[in-house]
Amino acid sequence: MDTNFDVIVIGGGIMGCSSAFRIAQRGLKVAVMEKAGLGNGSTGRSSAIIRQHYSNELTAKMAHHSLCVFQNFGDEVGGDSGFTVAGFLVLTAEKDLEGLKANVALQQSVGIKTGLLSRDELAERWPYLEIGDLVAAAYEPESGYADPTLTVNSFAQAAKGRGTEFQLDTEVFGILMEADKVRGVKTSRGEFQAPIIINCAGPWGAQIADWANVQVPINSCRVQVAFFRRPVEYQEDHPVVADFTHASYWRPETGGLTLVGLIDPSEQENVVDPDRYNENSDLEFVADVGNRLVQRFPAMEESTSTTSYAALYAITPDWHPVIDELIPDSGFFICAGFSGHGFKLGPAVGSMVADMVTGEDVSGLDRALFRLRRFEEGKPVAGRYEYSIAG
Ligand SMILES: Cc1cc2nc3c(=O)[nH]c(=O)nc-3n(C[C@H](O)[C@H](O)[C@H](O)COP(=O)(O)OP(=O)(O)OC[C@H]3O[C@@H](n4cnc5c(N)ncnc54)[C@H](O)[C@@H]3O)c2cc1C
Repeated sequence: MDTNFDVIVIGGGIMGCSSAFRIAQRGLKVAVMEKAGLGNGSTGRSSAIIRQHYSNELTAKMAHHSLCVFQNFGDEVGGDSGFTVAGFLVLTAEKDLEGLKANVALQQSVGIKTGLLSRDELAERWPYLEIGDLVAAAYEPESGYADPTLTVNSFAQAAKGRGTEFQLDTEVFGILMEADKVRGVKTSRGEFQAPIIINCAGPWGAQIADWANVQVPINSCRVQVAFFRRPVEYQEDHPVVADFTHASYWRPETGGLTLVGLIDPSEQENVVDPDRYNENSDLEFVADVGNRLVQRFPAMEESTSTTSYAALYAITPDWHPVIDELIPDSGFFICAGFSGHGFKLGPAVGSMVADMVTGEDVSGLDRALFRLRRFEEGKPVAGRYEYSIAG
């Protein structure tokens, strides 16, 4: 077995697999170490909503770049991502109207297809929505959702096709360093060598950085989602909805189901051990999100709840990732902390990580905003408006 590589990626989630693919495309010999199977972390349980409603120019550009990849997945990556166009609707309270308008203008300026809809237009297009509290909404006709397991496997397949080796069921236990430079990793299957290591370990990212005595503020936080079966009259798919007034999001799922989760900053308080947490949902959660859904989509009063589960967000203090070299000139990099909204950014992030480790600028996306030092500098990434907690 070959144990020498140019780059070792720790973690087989969307970030590890997309990064491996883009790095391998640039001619480097890559290995991905994954302690379980692909998608074992946040990725495999992601709601996988693909929207472009961000309030920073960089994140909006990353979302747009990624959407273009999802739209042309077969040519850009190969295989399938299960991308389904459903449209994406942003509902905010009247107090956030100016913020909503400014966000939409910013998104349009970077080429995103989005616009404002009046209350009359909302009522005409989705008469089943309760919209008495709204004055306007934003709508992206091209957005939707994907299948996260299919997506991560397609990225892995594409990386394999370019020579990447995947070591599954291989847990990394330590980083080998010599004179402040990485040399390789210690794993459950022995040692592997590379001058570049990328920590794409999501909720485990802080723990792995700590092995090199670098503290990265990423908490592993328990979040939940629940599914409801729509009444027979409402079998036709609805758009993906981010309902900021009820702090919830929902999207259609195959089989006439609607998946519901929270958009709630208090989820950052549910810090858990990523290896030992309750993966079942709480009854109160299912009742709570069901209520929030019914307030906006009253016919769902007649729905039945089907399944539900808990999973992990890797949350940083500003809800944005860290994409950086952990120790200058050490070859030890990190790409983690996507705080509940990373799936859709995965395609762009892969190219940004490839830029980072090769020193090239192919993606045209400047990762400086996500430097680790921003926290000690007191310059976190700021959403421009109160409602935009997710970017
Ligand atoms: C319920 C839920 C809903 C979400 N909804 C959305 C959404 O609608 N849209 C969106 O854009 N994003 C969403 N997200 C967020 C998105 O899924 C994540 O940001 C993204 O999947 C993070 O990917 P990752 O590769 O960084 O981490 P992960 O997918 O967590 O991958 C990390 C991998 O590292 C491996 N690993 C850890 N430690 C080691 C070790 N020591 N050795 C080897 N391997 C190791 C783990 O096994 C894991 O597979 C959601 C997340 C959740 C949980």
